[in-house]
Amino acid sequence: MSAYVDLVTSLRQGFPQPVSDRVHDAYFVFSFLRALDQLDGMKSVSPLLGKAVTLDYDAAKRSRVEERPQSLEQVTQMLVEHLSGMFIWGHPRAQINVIPPPTIASVIGGLLPSIYNPNLVSEESSRQVGVAEVEVSTMTAELIGYDPARSAGLFTFGGTGTLLYAVKLGLEKACPGTADRGITERAVIFCSERAHYACLSVANWLGIGRGNVISIPCSVDNEMQVCLLESMARDVLKNGGKIAAIVATMGTTDHFGLDDLKSIREIRDRLVDEFHLDYRPHLHGDAVIGWAWSVFNDYDFDKNPLEFRLRTVRALAGTRRRIRELPLADSVGIDFHKTGFTPYVSSLFLVKEAIDLELITRAQSDTPYLFHDGHYHPGRYTLETTRGGSAPMAALANLRLFGKDGFRALLGHVVSMAEVLREHLEGHAATTVVNRGNFGPVTLFRVYPDGVDTFSITEREQKDATYRDQLRLHNEYNRRIYQLVQADALQGGGVVISLTDCYRETDYGEPIVALKSYILSPFSEEQYIDAVLESLWKARAQIAAEQAQKP
Ligand SMILES: *Cc1c(COP(=O)(O)O)cnc(C)c1O
Repeated sequence: MSAYVDLVTSLRQGFPQPVSDRVHDAYFVFSFLRALDQLDGMKSVSPLLGKAVTLDYDAAKRSRVEERPQSLEQVTQMLVEHLSGMFIWGHPRAQINVIPPPTIASVIGGLLPSIYNPNLVSEESSRQVGVAEVEVSTMTAELIGYDPARSAGLFTFGGTGTLLYAVKLGLEKACPGTADRGITERAVIFCSERAHYACLSVANWLGIGRGNVISIPCSVDNEMQVCLLESMARDVLKNGGKIAAIVATMGTTDHFGLDDLKSIREIRDRLVDEFHLDYRPHLHGDAVIGWAWSVFNDYDFDKNPLEFRLRTVRALAGTRRRIRELPLADSVGIDFHKTGFTPYVSSLFLVKEAIDLELITRAQSDTPYLFHDGHYHPGRYTLETTRGGSAPMAALANLRLFGKDGFRALLGHVVSMAEVLREHLEGHAATTVVNRGNFGPVTLFRVYPDGVDTFSITEREQKDATYRDQLRLHNEYNRRIYQLVQADALQGGGVVISLTDCYRETDYGEPIVALKSYILSPFSEEQYIDAVLESLWKARAQIAAEQAQKP
């Protein structure tokens, strides 16, 4: 036998068997089980797998492909080691960012397609996994308040991808023919100053230009000041500019700010009439974070059957007030991998009117070897050619696993934990919550040394330019607190939180640093909220002691 045949024969063991082979199945499952077992052995009271690891990029740069194959066992071991030092997002001592722990169902949903490789490009290659994309699009459309019979959805490469689709549609509406000729006139994107930088990426990659992203100042509640949108949009239109898209952020990344979609939509419609526009500027709801709160659209807050605490009810109802306006947007971006508890990447782009997708549909003649049979061929309008099936299967898994009540309970729980934290922070003289009036799972706050009047500090820091040096000192103070809290957490004592370098700028142009607690773990409990506070007090005391030692 030739040498290569030997090799192929042994490599065949490394593939799932095409024809049922129970013994080999056991080998497959057991190999995975061993990996899980090794990972489990790396768990502890600290929110890390194994120990904190110093990353060695020099060694990484020395990696080369070897001559000989390795065994599955060796490869698995190596893969497991790559997870050492990873945060465990679902750990009750992790309050880091809008990163959820995926459910088992969604992991299985993601895993099955990675064994059988359906391709969502068309129904010939995706079969019922393509149907899953339609199911999820329909269920989610109905959930947020779209008419599922008229809307359509597709999964794409992240929240950034959902924005890319939205602005691309808007560009074709505002400047018809750009798909063929390129952009020949000025087109702008409006969004709030707290919108995600993905708006800039999209403007850059679509050729609109980052300079044509106009960010509207926000109120103290981190929502777009709509009167400014109106006047700035009027300026653009007066000067003959086109509006490619207006992006309403429905849950900003750091602050959970929610734009006033209803007013934005009214302004859009008013401007269409006033300027006799021959297009309707595309209005996109960037709800990649906020969408999940749609499950409360039909929750009875008076009867409160899930028995949330009053403060939680108030917070959830406060969010619903804005989220229920989502159907006023022409398209919506949804990340199941943020507040939907799936693995990365699972992002859904929904359009209210499926017919809008014709604006980006390729001619049949451009796609000669695909799409001959059947009728579900998303590859005709998606940017991507190959799309994997894991994203819709993981999303479908969680929509079924949770139902509306499951989502309500989980979101209600994380919000009520965040409320407990806020209550404590607001009650203490040395701390102040800076995203007050927000009702999400994220809390931005600042910590101050003794002797600072935290009642008036927020306003002074924001407005009083003579306070610049003090502000900078307090920024440094908060960075130091962060380091100490982080060190404490990695020892297994405290809780890992994060730091934002600029949750907002002062009126005189200085960045304001804030500590950030993002609670998304279903395992969060009050004792871990207490642990955050204890860790803060410890850090304050340590800094005070260090200061006292200085001459
Ligand atoms: C996270 C985020 C994005 C980008 O989404 P990815 O899935 O990370 O690409 C866009 N908009 C908002 C508001 C976000 O929070």
